Parts: sequence; structure tokens; C-alpha cells
Amino acid sequence: MTMRIEVEIDGGSGFCFGVVTAIGSAERELGSTDTLYCLGDIVHNSLEVERLEALGLRTIDHEEFARLHDKKVLLRAHGEPPSTYETARRNHITIVDATCPVVLQLQKKIHRCFVETREKGTQIVIYGKKGHAEVNGLVGQTEGEAIVIESVDDVDKLDFNRPIALFSQTTKSLDGFRRVVEAIKVRISEDVDFQYHDTICRQVANRLPNIQKFASAHDYVYFVAGRKSSNGKMLFEECRKANPNSLFISDAKEITEPLPEGVRKVGVCGATSTPKWLMEEVAEKVKRLNAE
Ligand code: SF4
Repeated sequence: MTMRIEVEIDGGSGFCFGVVTAIGSAERELGSTDTLYCLGDIVHNSLEVERLEALGLRTIDHEEFARLHDKKVLLRAHGEPPSTYETARRNHITIVDATCPVVLQLQKKIHRCFVETREKGTQIVIYGKKGHAEVNGLVGQTEGEAIVIESVDDVDKLDFNRPIALFSQTTKSLDGFRRVVEAIKVRISEDVDFQYHDTICRQVANRLPNIQKFASAHDYVYFVAGRKSSNGKMLFEECRKANPNSLFISDAKEITEPLPEGVRKVGVCGATSTPKWLMEEVAEKVKRLNAE
């Protein structure tokens, strides 16, 4: 008997617009040149990186970048510090700048704040992951002086007798940011200036409530992500809590069984690093397997 099922792909899953735009720039460039260098992984998904590498994309690190001359290099959505642009100028490297506009605005905001508050001895503080590419780009706006804090436990590093200006990496959690703000408010000396800027990107912050809603609206859910993706693990946990009939897969090939009896509405969703084409492949496979 043929089972009639509906398969829906979650429109809110997959790459954020910053990453989609960066990939679009890479594809456009690769249409007219054989090799395009990319400084760091364009996205944290090996299947998508492999797809672009087959078109001529070559991923390099900062050491290789410093040795490169007269080539074209794409800067990914996370952005880069000013030193990267200086190296490019020195080495006659043509930059294809795919820094996400949201990150670019944040870089400018931090730079402005740094210049304007320098004389007052303001500490520029960034709530983010140390060594993360976006954070390195942000710290670079302050001539390396910004203090990076990863959690509320790190606020001990700050001097509460000097002004503080707090910003956030775009992909950090809202809850964590609020906790840091409260901890600083409690400890900052009276009459000392504390300004904080919620610079968290809602493209990612809204994923959690979205995935819960999507998962509970379906009988069965395929959650697609790379096994190493930490964002994938976290979102899948939420997905499974909202709907225990959720299955984690990394590839359409992993689906070998038809759906259990009685399933009608099937959802396909994923992490911020899951390509849309991969979710489409999964949806096709599900339809095929269940039409037989
Ligand atoms: S700022 Fe938002 S849209 Fe831009 S790269 Fe970061 S998460 Fe993506």
C-alpha cells in the first residue's frame, strides 16, 4: 500500500544570510577564474567545502596567506582584522570581501567606541570565544586591546574602577550575554560608566525557538548536520525534546528504512552549517523510499 506523506523542509534551518552571501560571492568568482583562495573554512560543513573545492576554491590559513602574492583571496563572513588588509596591500593580493554586513557594522561600532573612549581609559570588552575568527576581527579594531570574556566567570579580569564598554560576538547566546551584563552591573563602582551593546545576530539566536516549533509540528523529524557541529548537537537535543521521533543524520545515504507506520507529516531541518541542497536531498530520499 502506498503511504501518502508530506515532507517539509524548515525554511529557518541552514546557513545564515551572511554565509549564503559569501558562498554566492565564491561561486560568482569561480565562474571566471580557476583558483580562488579562501582565508579559513568558508563554512563549517565538510560536504559544502568539498563541493566548492571541486569548483576551484582553495582554503588557506593565515600563514599561507602571509606568503601569498598577486592572487585573489576571499574573506569569509566572519570578517578579518585590519592587519589582514595590510598584508593584502603589501603582497598585491586582491581581496574579495565577503564579510557579513552585520559583522562589518559591529567592527565599525567597536572601532568608533575605541577611538572615542580611549582617553577615558575605557575597557572595551567582547563577550565571545577566544581565538574565533570573528572575535579576532573585532579585537583588531582596538589595536589588540579589547578584553575577551568567554563566560560570566571571566568578569574577574575586569577593572571595576574604570569605564567598561561591552559588545558581543554575533553568535553568542542571549542568556549568557544577559548574565555577563548583570555580573558587571553588580560589581562596577558607583559613578563609573558602563555601556553595553547587545550585538547578537537574531539569524542564529532565534534558531532554538524556531526548531522547537518546527519539530513539534511534525510526526517525524530528520535533523541533518555534520557529526562534529556543536551547533548541530545543541539544536538536535532541543529538536528531540520537542519531538522524540527525531533522527540525527549527516547524509541522505543514511536513510535506508521507510518511515514507521502512521507517519504522515515529516520535517527536515538542520543546523546553521547545514546546506540547503543537503536537506533537499534528504527530502527527496524520504519521498522516494516511502513511495515504493
Ligand atoms: S552576523 Fe548573523 S548573518 Fe552575519 S555571519 Fe554572523 S550569524 Fe550570519
